Amino acid sequence: MREGRTHRICWRHTPEGYEFWVKSRPDVRLACPEITDDLGFELDLLLMESGVDTEPLLTFDPPLPNEAANARWLVDDLAVVAGNAYAWLAGQVADYYEGGVCKACRRPQGPRNEHPLVMSHPPEGDLCFPGAPFMSLACPLICSERFRSLLTPEEQACADWLPIERGPRSRRKYFECVPHHVVSECPIKGSSAGWRCVVCGFTSITSPQDCGLGAVVAHTSISVPRPPMFGVGSPTWQNLVLPGPRARAILKQRGSRGVYVRSLGVAEADDVESEAQFRPFDGRKFVRWRPGSLEP
Ligand SMILES: [Zn+2]
Repeated sequence: MREGRTHRICWRHTPEGYEFWVKSRPDVRLACPEITDDLGFELDLLLMESGVDTEPLLTFDPPLPNEAANARWLVDDLAVVAGNAYAWLAGQVADYYEGGVCKACRRPQGPRNEHPLVMSHPPEGDLCFPGAPFMSLACPLICSERFRSLLTPEEQACADWLPIERGPRSRRKYFECVPHHVVSECPIKGSSAGWRCVVCGFTSITSPQDCGLGAVVAHTSISVPRPPMFGVGSPTWQNLVLPGPRARAILKQRGSRGVYVRSLGVAEADDVESEAQFRPFDGRKFVRWRPGSLEP
């Protein structure tokens, strides 16, 4: 069975509420009276039980209406454009960052060094993140030349495009996309904040991942005027943000293999947790939770 692929979920209004179906498997359907936080979970389960995918990623076509449970976060129609395809990099995470990696959390330290990324195998799509052993430790954004060409000159000018050394059987040209402006996710009042490494201070922020949201950022963190394209994440882990109509147009074109699009949540100041308490992580286990014991 397939695993971890992006599936396009189509939907329509019905007299009873909504009907959803998988575009590639129209026989796999779900009807429900309203859209709730559980929709993503229900669809995941349905795709699993129908043998479509054990770890599906969903993209809604058309995007879910604003009356969805996450409507409060949809201030502007902004979209997170992310890769759901693997690229495999040669070497170790430490080979590519000036400060190596933290002994506790293994996240890269310091900026990227001068070594270009080197691919060990042909990548799976046009927008990729690294597979093991990099996965979830360092996620440079890996874009094909074909994907880059779908962006306007103004959008392309919002990032540096560092050439990637191709693997032996890879025919397409790839770039590491480094957005100039990167907005970090923000902790939300009433949600768990995430965790922080006690050795290096690396912080993993947990955004409320309501159905259909790619990330939640503070409204105040987006620079004014808003750049045509920017990044969301951290210096070592990013996805792209584009206006919703632009992101959805890209998704329809050749050169978007492995791309998925989700709405960007934007939180107003009242919703942002300014005194978030992060769970301390020391590399072996989460150390005992003592609120206030760890300075931000
Ligand atoms: Zn660390």
